[in-house]
Amino acid sequence: MRDDAFLSYNVSMKAAYLIEPGKIELRDIPTPTPSKGEILVKIDTALTCGTDKKAFLRGHPMIPMPGPFGHEFSGTVASTGKNLKGFKEGDEIMAVHSAPCGKCWYCSKGLFNQCLNIMDTKILGAFAEYIVIPGHIAKRNVFLKPRHLSFEAAAMLEPLSCVTHALTGIGSVKGKEVVVIGAGPIALMHILLLHHRGAEVTVLGRDHNKLSFARSFGAQRAIVLSEAISSGLRADLLIECTGSVDVWELSPSLVRRGGTVLLFGGCKTGTEARFDTHKLHYEEITLKGSFHFTPRDVKEAYRLIKEGIAVERLISEVCGLSDIQEVFSYLAQGKGLKYALKPSK
Ligand SMILES: [Zn+2]
Ligand SMILES: [Zn+2]
Repeated sequence: MRDDAFLSYNVSMKAAYLIEPGKIELRDIPTPTPSKGEILVKIDTALTCGTDKKAFLRGHPMIPMPGPFGHEFSGTVASTGKNLKGFKEGDEIMAVHSAPCGKCWYCSKGLFNQCLNIMDTKILGAFAEYIVIPGHIAKRNVFLKPRHLSFEAAAMLEPLSCVTHALTGIGSVKGKEVVVIGAGPIALMHILLLHHRGAEVTVLGRDHNKLSFARSFGAQRAIVLSEAISSGLRADLLIECTGSVDVWELSPSLVRRGGTVLLFGGCKTGTEARFDTHKLHYEEITLKGSFHFTPRDVKEAYRLIKEGIAVERLISEVCGLSDIQEVFSYLAQGKGLKYALKPSK
């Protein structure tokens, strides 16, 4: 039940729905009510993400259509359900849109990102005026936004958590040769973090302008992808951020013996990749997937953002929520990296 003493928000709100690939609708719907342990957040900023772009272009198995859209956000607590500890009306917060159940076999082994329930209990609908954060997320993955931090930087918590997760388990990267393939937002976040941790980063991509932008995030070298093989590049670690099968297949040939290929970019559902078994076996190449994040990764991302890692530079433009269809058509044309959508604008 809502604590009716705080009816400081509107009873109806604007919320974007992804109807089918290419089509977004801005609907008027009732403002949700926080139940026990939940938080109603007035969205300040929601960011577009590579996953949203994929869903807009071709559909995505984790984003049902038609349905609420958007998952990277920051805002202000508008109201709380009963028994909510740690947050109160007016608090500025940053959060991610999922949390593990803590009960399944994977959670019992500490593999929280592989939780059997994490995807079914995630929330979508950040491209809206309000969103309700359920109790299991409120308990583990919501943080007070430091006053000095902008809402735009705070909304980067979710994508940066994916990146901190990918690098967990890799060990120290200090002084290591790391290749990042791709120059989109996720690749740039990898470069930022790798540079921050003392790695020697080379970025590979197709577009010269994007490559020179990537260098400004801390990559020492930039090479056009088509010249990667002839360049004789041999990295300790390679991070694939494009999600293209041909790039997945190319990746093992760019690491040294004993090297690791981190397959970060998800390919289209149903696709298959081929690898040289001889090379993987005799050269002891590790192929490693990476998906989502654990609460520990979120805490690490929170710490990095709080300390001022320059994630805000990834935002190409700040727009109004009503511009959403236009924003996604820009993304579909390859224009811009990430857009910040603000209901108040
Ligand atoms: Zn995202
Ligand atoms: Zn679980």
